[in-house]
Amino acid sequence: MARRKDPLEKVDNFAARKAKYLPVAAALSKVYGSLDWSRQQDGMDELISCILSQSTNDVNRDRAFARLQTMYADWEAVRFAELDELIDVIRPAGLANQKAPRIQNVLAVVFERAGEYSIDFLNDLSIEDAKAWLCSLRGVGPKTAAIVLCFAYNRPAFPVDTHIYRVCKRIGFIPEKLSADDAHPVMEAIAPPDLYYQFHIHLIQHGRDTCHARKPACERCAVHKHCDYYAANANAN
Ligand code: SF4
Repeated sequence: MARRKDPLEKVDNFAARKAKYLPVAAALSKVYGSLDWSRQQDGMDELISCILSQSTNDVNRDRAFARLQTMYADWEAVRFAELDELIDVIRPAGLANQKAPRIQNVLAVVFERAGEYSIDFLNDLSIEDAKAWLCSLRGVGPKTAAIVLCFAYNRPAFPVDTHIYRVCKRIGFIPEKLSADDAHPVMEAIAPPDLYYQFHIHLIQHGRDTCHARKPACERCAVHKHCDYYAANANAN
């Protein structure tokens, strides 16, 4: 079987890309301040919430998650709920026909592995094994695995969502053609593990506030000096 190429091997000028980290992180810290990790949800809630969030926004995800909590006493009840009913409950998140069976499958696999509806056993696994286990679940990929590990367990995994993917390509941390899945190990090689959480949040914030998808506000951007997109479009800026 052909060896899967290491994503880092697909990255040209890696040293120059990595060298952007310090000035960009410092500039973003000045704007957004330093952040300590704090857990918002336990691992199981984070995992189900991530599945609900696929291809939708945070508001719809939260509405669907709140409906789950209102309708069912616990994860056992969600696992054994009538599928049609569950589809209806999580409909605000969209793609409910796919997400409902996905959630029930995940709950069954978790229970089989842990004997409870908890994924805290991930804390006992190496980071690579924890990622691999999460990615073995149907409908779970590198982004969801990294969000769960980073947010619920403060483990060294760097989630690349759509904001981060866009901003990192523009700045030049990652090449234009690298896939979002492959961007995860590259960003993990660029930022220091103990600062993944803070850097992740800062990049999302920057994508929302300044580096907008359609029209980035480069004229007031704190990191423009280090941005490849800005340099390439300097005359237009
Ligand atoms: S200079 Fe423009 S493209 Fe570059 S990070 Fe800032 S807002 Fe985004």
